[in-house]
Amino acid sequence: MAEAFDLARMAENVALIRQQMAEAACAAGRKPEEILLCAACKTRTPETVSQSAQLPIDLFGENHMQELVTNFDAGAYLGKPVHFIGHLQTNKVKKVVGRASCIQSIDSMHLMEAVEKEAARQNLMQDILLEVNIGEESTKTGADADALWQLLDGAEKLEHLRVRGLMAIPPAFDNGDESRRYFAMMRELLEKAKERRYERALLDTLSMGMSDSFLAAIAEGATIVRVGTAIYGARYYPPKAE
Ligand SMILES: *Cc1c(COP(=O)(O)O)cnc(C)c1O
Repeated sequence: MAEAFDLARMAENVALIRQQMAEAACAAGRKPEEILLCAACKTRTPETVSQSAQLPIDLFGENHMQELVTNFDAGAYLGKPVHFIGHLQTNKVKKVVGRASCIQSIDSMHLMEAVEKEAARQNLMQDILLEVNIGEESTKTGADADALWQLLDGAEKLEHLRVRGLMAIPPAFDNGDESRRYFAMMRELLEKAKERRYERALLDTLSMGMSDSFLAAIAEGATIVRVGTAIYGARYYPPKAE
């Protein structure tokens, strides 16, 4: 019973989010189908993830290698794509490549080279996004804008990687409108990257906007919004053991 109730509630949440996404797209003169809904499902059980996969969610976003492996190997995404959106350590690359259709959180040459090496070993083309620390916060991962050009230049030489665009987690605000100026900066960065006319990079993706800010992100050109809480409810983190 509890699960059936959760599914009904998730279905309502997703329907509302899709409607709001479509309205924001139209208001910005964009087509609703240009914007993908990524369900950020960290901490949710495989049962919840697979129930949500029946809803009009386009893809999943995982933050932790182990949750990705568990959900992927259990078939919890029901065949929908999954992207890796969390901080990735090089020693976990092996298990992420081959499961995640895109790694959104590439922020160093070192990590990019580790992903290239594993993609070559598995003989596949790995889509990636470059994560930008757009708020220049010392506590956050992501490349700063200068390092971004080095990453884009470097990626041209890595034959098993294809850069699809940029990802950001801007500073948190109480109100999505305050995030908008960071989303605008991201749109401008992607435009600048396109002007550099890379041969191999296919710069068609801008992943930005979360539960409290996805409308502002769509207004500034997001093509993927990553939504967790607004779909699944608040996350519960058990207290850390002493
Ligand atoms: C958790 C998470 C989200 C979703 O956050 P909500 O506020 O729950 O919507 C989006 N992106 C990343 C990288 C996350 O870790």
